[in-house]
Amino acid sequence: MAKAFIGFGGNVGDTRQIITDAMVCLALRSQLRIIHKSCLYQSAPVEATGGDYINSVVQIETDLTPYGLLHVCQTIEQQFGRERPYENAPRTLDLDILYFEGVAQGDTELTLPHPRITERSFVLLPLLEIAPDFFLPEFGALKSYLPQVAHQRIEKLTCRNCASDEKAEYRPPAH
Ligand code: AMP
Repeated sequence: MAKAFIGFGGNVGDTRQIITDAMVCLALRSQLRIIHKSCLYQSAPVEATGGDYINSVVQIETDLTPYGLLHVCQTIEQQFGRERPYENAPRTLDLDILYFEGVAQGDTELTLPHPRITERSFVLLPLLEIAPDFFLPEFGALKSYLPQVAHQRIEKLTCRNCASDEKAEYRPPAH
C-alpha cells in the first residue's frame, strides 16, 4: 500500500458541505483508506478568481496506481459538477494529488509531487496539521516554507476530527 496526500478545494456553492461529501465519496472507494483528515481552512484566492476558498488535505493509503488515483479524483470532481471554463476559474471542487509515495515525475497529466506544494498556505497548513514533519527529498522539510506563504490570508475553521485509531472493534452482544 502506498501513502498519498490529496488536497481538496473549492469556492462555488456550499463548499464546506461539498468537501465533506466529497471526502465521504473518496472514503467509499474500496481501493483506498483515509488515514488522516485535516480541519477545513478558509483562504483567499491565489492566482485565481472568485470568493474565498475552503480547503482541506487527507492522507490515504492505497493499492491504486498514481494514474488510477487521478482517475478516482477526477471522477469525484465530475460528480460534484466541476467545470473548467478557463484556467483558474472558480470551481465547485478541485482535487489535487499532492504526493504519492515513491513517485517523482514531471508528466503534465500527473506531476508528482505537486509542483506548487510549497507555494500555497492552503496546501501547507492543512498538510502540516496532519503530517507536521513531512519531508520531501525534492523540497526538504515542508514546514521550512511556511515563512514564504505567511502573507497569504488563511483561517483554520472550527473542526471536529476523529483519530483513525479510534475505530472500536465490533463485538456482537452476548446472549
Ligand atoms: P486543475 O484545473 O488545477 O484541476 O488541473 C487539472 C489538470 O492538472 C488535469 O489535467 C490533471 O491531469 C493535471 N495534473 C497534473 N498534476 C496533477 C496532480 N498532481 N494532481 C491533480 N491533477 C494534476
